[in-house]
Amino acid sequence: MGNKIIGIIGYGNQGKSQALNLRDSGLNVIVGNVNDNYAKDAEKDGFKVYDIPEAVKKSDIIFLLIPDEIQKNIYKNHIEPNIKIGATLVFASGYNYFYGFIRPRSDITVLMIAPRMIGWGVRDVYVNDQGFPSLVAVGQDPNNNGYSILMTLCDRLGMFRKGGCAVLSSFKEETLVDLLSEHSWVGVMLYSFRAYYDVATELGASPASVILELYASGELAEIAKSMRDMGLFNQLKTHSRTSQYGQLTRGPLYITDEFKKTLKNEAINILNGTFAREWNDEENNGYIVYNRLHEMAKEHPMETEERKLYKILGR
Ligand code: NDP
Repeated sequence: MGNKIIGIIGYGNQGKSQALNLRDSGLNVIVGNVNDNYAKDAEKDGFKVYDIPEAVKKSDIIFLLIPDEIQKNIYKNHIEPNIKIGATLVFASGYNYFYGFIRPRSDITVLMIAPRMIGWGVRDVYVNDQGFPSLVAVGQDPNNNGYSILMTLCDRLGMFRKGGCAVLSSFKEETLVDLLSEHSWVGVMLYSFRAYYDVATELGASPASVILELYASGELAEIAKSMRDMGLFNQLKTHSRTSQYGQLTRGPLYITDEFKKTLKNEAINILNGTFAREWNDEENNGYIVYNRLHEMAKEHPMETEERKLYKILGR
């Protein structure tokens, strides 16, 4: 890396952790951020902080670590006019490059390092001498050295330590697998919990017992950890036999042909850009539907009961 300057644009979830890891691995890191609390945090952590255009002008390698939905405008207005000839641009997700919302000039090397880990986790494992998994890709490689820069950056982020790896992927694949999770099982989990609450309380279960059972006890988090460590079905061993039998016989009943058809349609809507267009319109219209859906979610009686329980639990 020599004395190349790494510019971290956005000192948020990923930005803070990646900046600290790269600096602790000996790289010359600066931060580009709007002058507010995130910028103050970066200064407190000892980084030189500039406004985004200034940071971009100074940087040889730019990590774009601001929310996906605002990247297009920030890129157009603050990055494109200032980016050095021959610079490297690193995305943490496939979204904007895959859909062509951001089209870097042909002299720019375009890479993707998309951690499969939340921001603070990227830092936490680093300080504990461990690695983290990521999907990585080279998008545009004008100097035929994109792969080598990519591997060096992954190494300096601490990815290759124990427990980590870089899966060679593509912007398309990362976009598909990331959005398809959000559009299927993650969303299904939220709304199936709501349906469970409705049915169980209708049959006389107390709201507190239901909310504890579903997620508030932390058992769900433990199951997720066992899946990570032991495998999806192998972790069943940690449940009682009655539980295992129930899961194996009743779980498949919900996965109908209709479910699979919906899943496939959603994957197609992601790949052909239908969802991205819808989300773009939503942003342009001031997040009307997004805000309304949040309000509607809060109207469910489970919200009030959850607040009561969390007060008792001191959360
Ligand atoms: P954050 O939401 O934490 O980003 C916050 C940063 O973006 C802050 O520095 C904030 O500064 C800046 N920002 C927000 N709005 C604006 C704006 N309008 N103009 C300029 N700066 C702005 O982002 P994440 O770290 O969650 O995500 C960054 C990237 O990492 C994304 O591509 C995401 O897909 C990817 N990613 C995220 C993961 C995660 O766990 N969060 C996991 C894997 C990948 P300020 O408010 O001061 O303007």
